[in-house]
Amino acid sequence: MKQYETVIGLEVHVELATKTKIFCGCSTEFGGAPNTHTCPVCTGMPGSLPVLNKKVVEFALKAGLAANCQINQYCKFDRKNYFYPDNPQNYQISQLYLPICHDGWVEIETSAGKKKIRIHEMHMEEDAGKLIHDEWEDSSLVDYNRSGVPLIEIVSEPDMRSAEEVIAYLEKLRCMMQYLGVSDCKLQEGSMRADVNLSVHEAGTDKFGIRTEMKNLNSFKAISRAIEGERERQIELLEEGKPVIQETRRWDDNKEYSYAMRSKEDAKDYRYFPDPDLPPVHISDEWLEELRKSQPELREAKRARYQEEYGLSDYDAGILTESRHLAGLFEDTVKLYGNAKKAANWFMGEVLRLAKEKAIDLEQISFEPKHLADLLLMVEKGQVSPQNAKKVFEKVFDEDIDPVSYVEEHGLKIVEDTGLLAETVNRILDANPGPLSELLGGKDKVMGFFVGQIMKEMKGKANPASVREALTEEIKHRS
Ligand code: ADP
Ligand code: MG
Ligand code: ZN
Repeated sequence: MKQYETVIGLEVHVELATKTKIFCGCSTEFGGAPNTHTCPVCTGMPGSLPVLNKKVVEFALKAGLAANCQINQYCKFDRKNYFYPDNPQNYQISQLYLPICHDGWVEIETSAGKKKIRIHEMHMEEDAGKLIHDEWEDSSLVDYNRSGVPLIEIVSEPDMRSAEEVIAYLEKLRCMMQYLGVSDCKLQEGSMRADVNLSVHEAGTDKFGIRTEMKNLNSFKAISRAIEGERERQIELLEEGKPVIQETRRWDDNKEYSYAMRSKEDAKDYRYFPDPDLPPVHISDEWLEELRKSQPELREAKRARYQEEYGLSDYDAGILTESRHLAGLFEDTVKLYGNAKKAANWFMGEVLRLAKEKAIDLEQISFEPKHLADLLLMVEKGQVSPQNAKKVFEKVFDEDIDPVSYVEEHGLKIVEDTGLLAETVNRILDANPGPLSELLGGKDKVMGFFVGQIMKEMKGKANPASVREALTEEIKHRS
């Protein structure tokens, strides 16, 4: 069989995390009883007029700047005309001729190394409502809560060649949006949606094949399977001498097969024209500069800084910066505790272990960094044994308890130099006359045996250094 190369370009829709919709003051909150987040504007009532939400433009610009895009400081909105019951105006307000951002790129990393994926454009548009098909009642209902929720559509160039690259690209976009605070990018809730354009052609030739576009992909796993499935389907067609038809297909993840939905529609089919209700958007140099300056430190910069400033390995720095939230907890802990390396070890070990064990999403981890810092300081001062500290930390992780009072209340504090240690030393020495005489006879190796025994008796309430000291003192008396 011939060798084939796969070519993939993505159209990614990202719901922006503004409080209100793009052209009206309705709430964008997910969920909510059907049609409760609606008004005349987002339900397409005659006579209603859209007013652009400035925050949407700001978020689109932040995303565009982070993805190295050129900015159209003069941009416009266009109407994309089509009828569908979830689209009450009979057109979607989008941008065709002058999208806000264009010609950017992001860098992805896969097992093959680093690669740039070019971004054709990013434009602003409004989301549609949602149809709920009730098969039992044999009817369909419509919920306009999502109608008018702001989106940016990010269109890539056909630069990806495998499912691995596609997933790396999506993860990159998601991480970037989360760092910027412009979207939570949850595939399950639909705040990030990807349409996959895919074609195959004979390896070694440079002319791309005819592509199809796949919709209905709501997890990274489904996307991977869809890419494999569609690639196979197209290769089979070509091997049989049949053409691939340019069309939109719906991926059925249960059947692991894509089904034709509609023939590929063109921009001209939608009769786009500039929206007469919305004036063009002018983005001033000053505003753009202000946004540029206020961009947060993104993951790559943070990852590099952790290595330089904290001396962490590239691997550790990579893991700790995967989520901006986790990185924030880590940095705040370091500020209070001081020792970045030890704090990093604790995050890499305990924090991530507990998150995994308890199946908690990194974004959901919540404890006060001060509580972890206090605990680590107690370990450092020899007030809590490392073993007990792990147990106490689990309480911090679960319930965000104050470790200082917890340690006191549960008798976990190492008691320095009290009668208990001296009493234990004596008791253990008396209980082991054999080893004791060896020790008195100069056999230093037995020292370790006694330290171990005493530590065990002290149940983590003594540190090895003070045990050794108390023991040496007592031996001096006895010899
Ligand atoms: P249209 O405007 O008709 O939807 P575009 O040229 O904007 O078409 O491309 C839409 C998406 O399809 C882009 O993400 C692009 O990267 C991708 N694409 C274009 N040509 C191909 C191809 N031959 N194979 C795979 N993907 C492609
Ligand atoms: Mg398109
Ligand atoms: Zn509204």
